[in-house]
Amino acid sequence: MDNNANTIYGDIINNNETTNTTNKNENIIKSFDYENTAITDTVNLIIVDSIDRNASDIHFNPTETGIDIRIRIDGELRLYSKVPDYVKKNMITRIKILAGMNITESRIPQDGAIKQKIQDKDVDLRVSSLPTNLGENIVIRILDYTMSNKGLETLGFSETNLQKVNKMIAEPNGIILVTGATGTGKSTTVYSILQKLNTIDRNIITVEDPIEMNIPGVNQVQVISDIGLTFATSLRSILRQDPDIIMIGEIRDDETARIAVRASITGHLVLSTIHTNTALNTIERLLDMSVERYLLGTALTGIISQKLTKKLCPYCRGTRPTTPYEKNVFKRSLNLDINEIYEAKGCDKCHEGYQGRIAIQEVLLLNQEIRDAITNNMKKEDLRELVYGTGTITMLQDGLTKVINGDTTFEELVKAIDIDDSDLTGKGLTESLEIAEKNNTVLENTEEFKEINQKNDTDYEVFNFDFLNK
Ligand SMILES: [Zn+2]
Repeated sequence: MDNNANTIYGDIINNNETTNTTNKNENIIKSFDYENTAITDTVNLIIVDSIDRNASDIHFNPTETGIDIRIRIDGELRLYSKVPDYVKKNMITRIKILAGMNITESRIPQDGAIKQKIQDKDVDLRVSSLPTNLGENIVIRILDYTMSNKGLETLGFSETNLQKVNKMIAEPNGIILVTGATGTGKSTTVYSILQKLNTIDRNIITVEDPIEMNIPGVNQVQVISDIGLTFATSLRSILRQDPDIIMIGEIRDDETARIAVRASITGHLVLSTIHTNTALNTIERLLDMSVERYLLGTALTGIISQKLTKKLCPYCRGTRPTTPYEKNVFKRSLNLDINEIYEAKGCDKCHEGYQGRIAIQEVLLLNQEIRDAITNNMKKEDLRELVYGTGTITMLQDGLTKVINGDTTFEELVKAIDIDDSDLTGKGLTESLEIAEKNNTVLENTEEFKEINQKNDTDYEVFNFDFLNK
């Protein structure tokens, strides 16, 4: 892994010369020479520099004295530059020209895109403007597809979870849902699955809003609600196009949910995302969307829930003893006695001890018992017992395991998961893993699986998930 360290951990941000202690006041603030540089060059510089810093978004916030530029790195907004008032108008106009927006209109919100070479870099940016009392606020989203192209195996799934995912995508029909809040990298996971399934013998059609990444060989449809091309209407047409696999960008309404379920029980593999936190919530949400229980029980193949947390820098991480509270959480959730865990320090290769992000997942592969429970309207508490009693590793268990491995810290995990709300009385991890293994013994013994199992090790790559699914 050390050989790949530079590419894996990406670009490095630090203008500080100090490399020793925690960089709590890490300074990335830049100033530009507006007197001697053309605004076009300065805007290009800001965009390219932000991409180099692995930022996911660039914000141009109008203030009374000009513009505050902030960039989002690893999920956190940081002040990047303060632009003087006399440049304000020119800068906003330049960005709007680049994005193909109407520069004579500043009273209504606009959307635009920048897809071109800037300083020899291919960039793909979404731009949006919003009029505020201090001027137009512009946000540029940087789209970066590198993560989706690295493959499903690099998304941080534990070995058990990856096996479950591979099993669900090997099914010829059914629905696979990737769930999580906004900005949890759902699209990255969906695109990674699609790329894996993208072979010449399969007709894959997607309906998306927006299309976040072009995949050669896949028919992608952009939703245009203004002219009546919604998820639901597109789906009806797609079904007449002899698809094998259908990807629906997001299930947002009852009608889409119902068509998705019907498509999956008529012999199609349907992939989609939905805004829910856990596998259990997802089932409830679908039933709330008036999807018939018996159809859902038949259709649902699996649910992948995920959250993102900051990835600990492997170069400078240190260790510390666990607090009594942490010890208790490890004991109750994993049935392990953990006396020491990793903590963030900070060095010239990271941001305050962290670099990139890592996903925490919960993967539910439905078995007949769970299907029957859905169909027969089993009580929520009993369904919970069934889901987590049959070897589903909870998101908390997955996260705590990643804390033990030094991929993230307890502090960051707590920000992503409300531990006090989580079910700590579940089975220990060892027990869960044993049950999971038992349930997976029927795993197809294909070459693909063997290959994956060989490849799969515990090194998780850095996630730059930020760009998708805001
Ligand atoms: Zn570091």
